[in-house]
Amino acid sequence: MSTGRKTAACLAVGSELLGERRLDSNSLRITAELARYGVVVEEKRVVGDSVERTAAALRDLLAHHELVVVTGGLGPTADDVTREAVARALDRELEHSVEVEGWIRDRYASLGRQMPAICTSMARVVPGSRPLRNDRGSAPGLIVETDGKLLAVFPGVPWEMEEMLERDLLPEVAGWSSGIERYTRTLLLGGVVESDTEERVRHLYDRFGRENVTILAHYGVLRLVLSCEADPEAARRRVDEMESAFREELGDDVAGVDVNGLAEVILDALRGGGQTLATAESCTGGLVGARITEVAGASDAYLGGVVSYSNEAKEALLGVEHDLLVEHGAVSEHVALAMAQGARNRLNADWGIGITGVAGPSGGTQEKPVGLVHWAVAGPGGAWARYRVFPGDRSIVREWSTNAALDLLRRRLLESHR
Ligand code: ATP
Repeated sequence: MSTGRKTAACLAVGSELLGERRLDSNSLRITAELARYGVVVEEKRVVGDSVERTAAALRDLLAHHELVVVTGGLGPTADDVTREAVARALDRELEHSVEVEGWIRDRYASLGRQMPAICTSMARVVPGSRPLRNDRGSAPGLIVETDGKLLAVFPGVPWEMEEMLERDLLPEVAGWSSGIERYTRTLLLGGVVESDTEERVRHLYDRFGRENVTILAHYGVLRLVLSCEADPEAARRRVDEMESAFREELGDDVAGVDVNGLAEVILDALRGGGQTLATAESCTGGLVGARITEVAGASDAYLGGVVSYSNEAKEALLGVEHDLLVEHGAVSEHVALAMAQGARNRLNADWGIGITGVAGPSGGTQEKPVGLVHWAVAGPGGAWARYRVFPGDRSIVREWSTNAALDLLRRRLLESHR
């Protein structure tokens, strides 16, 4: 394989990926991993379960790219067409492999099961290819070099695909990079919107290159991806420099670096201060709690939450005063604060979050329109409330609210730990 810049294509096989319920996400992971070695994904395709269409796509992509990565369609059923399509695209005939059948039998045996007869079809291999053992599932993958191009074929299940990508493909690709790698670092920002942030950092684009900065916004949370392509040490130094320059502009809006989300940052801060958190949610129905408990080890700091949808639940479970609800209404600053304080008191936590709002599509009034959300944080040093009318449908309003509440707590924790 010659050196120089290589391009790649991803091909996702599966009729379900053409429907309205599923998207090809495997190519996102593949693209990110290949980018680390300077290999750029220039084309992506999705084809249904058709041998002809898959074979035609393969021929076309192999004609234009040094690397083609295929996922899906490797199972044992009639709609799993990828193995056959690869053989056809390369003008080869599939052959049965006793060794590969052994792998599949072993896999079933390790689960205490007998291999169903139908699975022998997965032991058919493309002559001249390297079959790839699947330690996380039963369908083997394959890698084959053809006319100086590399074709890698992995199962569709993301967890299985990832193992083969890392174990079998990336070491090959690393050998192409001639020392040049793409280094990336992601700053997570909370409580900001894309346009304002863009405005504040635009002047840094000239200094570091527009192509090296990507902004990804998601309802109040923003990811700023900084990258540089160079030899690993120089790239890391350059990205250090970029991080300092961006941090100087953005200050406390930067919640963390290379973290999954605000919940992770909050949990770290709570743990650091030996503190605990409880939540009280109305319009978000537990989304804040869900976001926090997605992080492994959340139980160190998160005590629990109350989903108090009705006024009665707010009174009974959180001790929100009846008169407060009557006087100000459930969607109000007073009630958000009382919910945060109630969660804190009832669960005996250091910090409490309260959220109440009108997620829509109905229930809005002139005074309290759809999208109006009040959120509050109560802690050892006081209580703080914010509100906004968020744009978007019900699920978007809930997403905005969740991020806004998490970010308010993040800022208060930052302040209190200074
Ligand atoms: P297996 O036999 O182990 O299931 P397979 O190669 O036949 O492997 P598929 O049947 O195509 O895989 O897909 C299995 C699962 O993986 C399905 O739930 C499918 O939606 C999901 N999947 C397939 N391709 C992708 C993709 N490109 N991105 C995300 N998920 C995918």
